[in-house]
Amino acid sequence: MPLYSSQPLKIYNSLSGEKEDFKPIHDGNVGMYVCGPTVYSNVHLGNVRTFMSFDVIFRYFLHLDYKVRYVRNITDVGHIVDDVDEGEDKIAKKARLEQLEPMEVVQRYTVDFHNILKAFNFLPPSIEPTATGHIIEQIEIIKKIIDKGIGYVANGSVYFDVVKYNETNNYGILSGRNIDDMLANTRDLDGQSDKRNPQDFALWKKAEPEHIMRWPSPWSDGFPGWHLECTAMSTKYLGNHFDIHGGGMDLKFPHHECEIAQNEACTGQAPVNYWMHANMLTLNGKKMAKSTGNNILPGEILSGDNNILSKPFSASVTRFFMLQAHYRSILDFSDDAIVAAEKGYKRLMEAVDALPNLTAGNSSSIDFAAWKQLCYDAMNDDFNTPILIAQLFEAVRYVNLIKDGKETISATDLADFTTAVNAFVFDVLGLSDEKNADGDNDKLEGVVNMLIGMRNQARADKNFALSDQIRDQLIALGIQLKDGKEGTSFSIQ
Ligand code: AMP
Ligand code: ZN
Repeated sequence: MPLYSSQPLKIYNSLSGEKEDFKPIHDGNVGMYVCGPTVYSNVHLGNVRTFMSFDVIFRYFLHLDYKVRYVRNITDVGHIVDDVDEGEDKIAKKARLEQLEPMEVVQRYTVDFHNILKAFNFLPPSIEPTATGHIIEQIEIIKKIIDKGIGYVANGSVYFDVVKYNETNNYGILSGRNIDDMLANTRDLDGQSDKRNPQDFALWKKAEPEHIMRWPSPWSDGFPGWHLECTAMSTKYLGNHFDIHGGGMDLKFPHHECEIAQNEACTGQAPVNYWMHANMLTLNGKKMAKSTGNNILPGEILSGDNNILSKPFSASVTRFFMLQAHYRSILDFSDDAIVAAEKGYKRLMEAVDALPNLTAGNSSSIDFAAWKQLCYDAMNDDFNTPILIAQLFEAVRYVNLIKDGKETISATDLADFTTAVNAFVFDVLGLSDEKNADGDNDKLEGVVNMLIGMRNQARADKNFALSDQIRDQLIALGIQLKDGKEGTSFSIQ
C-alpha cells in the first residue's frame, strides 16, 4: 500500500489562507510547478532557500510514494527590471553591460545555478523548461486572450485588460488586493503608456530597434511578458488545471495574480488547486536581494569568504540551518545562527552514525512507532521541518540512552527505527553525511600513504622499476607525488 494512503497531508493554501487537506487531481499523482530563477546573475542564498523549501516538499511527496511531475522553469527572457513593463529586460541589460550575447548570460548563470543545486544536494526537477523555448506556446495563449476580448493590441505590443477581466472575474483573488484601490492609487506618470489602465500588464512587447532579444509574432518583432511564460510552461506540462504552484512570497503579486488572470481568461477555469509561497531569507533584517547587494552567495558560505562569516560552512549545515525554520516563516541569516546549526547538525549525524553499532536486546519502554508517527505528523502538517528536526533530536536522545545501556531496543524496533531516521534525515530533509565523506577522504589518504611507503621501500631496495610504476600509476589517477626534505607528500588534481 502506498504510504500516502496512511498519511493524510495538509497544505497551507495561499489562495484560501487556510491549511487544507491535500487531494490530488489524479489519485497518487502530483503535478507541481515552481517559478525558477531569472538567470542574469548568480543566485544568492535567499533564492537557494526558496528552491530548498520546494526541494523538501518534492522529496516528501516522493517519500509518500506519490508519482510527482515537478516542473521548474528557467526565466531567460521577459523579466523586466523593477517588474514594470516599461523597463529593460534583465538579461538584455546584463548582456549590454557585459558585451555578451544574451544567451551567453543565460548559459553562464544557468550553469552556476545547476552547480549550486548540486552542491546543496537538490533533486533535479522532472522538467526544466526555458521561456525562450516556449515562444510559440506563449503566442498561442496571447491569441486566445485577444479572442476572448481581454487582450488588446497597442503599437505592436499586447496588453491584458485587467478592468475588463475583473468585470467577470476577481483580479486580486490571490493577493487580496482590490482593483478599485489599485486604480485609485496609481497614476500614469508619463501619460505616454499604450495601456488602457495602469494595472494592465504586457503579454507581448514590441522590441525597440536596438533590442537584441526578439521573435516574430502577429503583432510585432518583440518578446513575451514575464507572467505569460509561467502560464505557458505550467499548462503545457501539467495541463490547464494542476495541483500545486509555488514560488517565493514576493511573487504572489503581481506575478502569480497575473498568471491566474491569464489562465482564467484563456480557459475559464482556475488553473491551480494549491498555491504555495515560501518566505524570505533576510540579512540584517532586510530581504536578501540581488539588486541591493544585501546578500550572501552560496559559494561564499562554502568558502567562508565573506566578512559576515567567521568561517566556512558546509552545504549540509546550510541546509540544516534553513530547514530549522518553517518554509512560511521569515528566516534571518547570521553567523551565530549558522554556528549553532552546525553544532545541531553534528550532534544529529553522530547519532545517525551510531545507529549501525547499536545492539538489539529486550523490548524498550520507548514507543518507537509513536515517535515515527510524530515525524510524519510534523511533515503532514504543512511540511513542518522544524518540528520534524525536534523529533529527530528526540531520536538522538534515544540513541544515546541505548548506547549508554540505559534503554534497550528490540531487533524489529531497531531495524524500523534505523530505516525511519535515515529516511527522514537523508531522503526527506536531503542532508548528507559529510563526516562519512571525510571518512572516505581519510581512507584515500591512508591508501596513498601506504603506496608512498611501498615506493620508499622499492627505492631503498633499488627496485626503480617498481617505484616509478607506483608514481606513474598514481599520476594517471590524478594523484601527484612530491618528494621534499620532510619526505613525500601528495596532491589530488
Ligand atoms: P528571481 O531569480 O529573482 O526570479 O528569484 C527566484 C526565486 O527566489 C523566486 O521564487 C523568489 O521569490 C525567490 N527569492 C528572491 N529573494 C529571496 C529571498 N531573500 N529569500 C527567499 N527567496 C527569495
Ligand atoms: Zn513564474
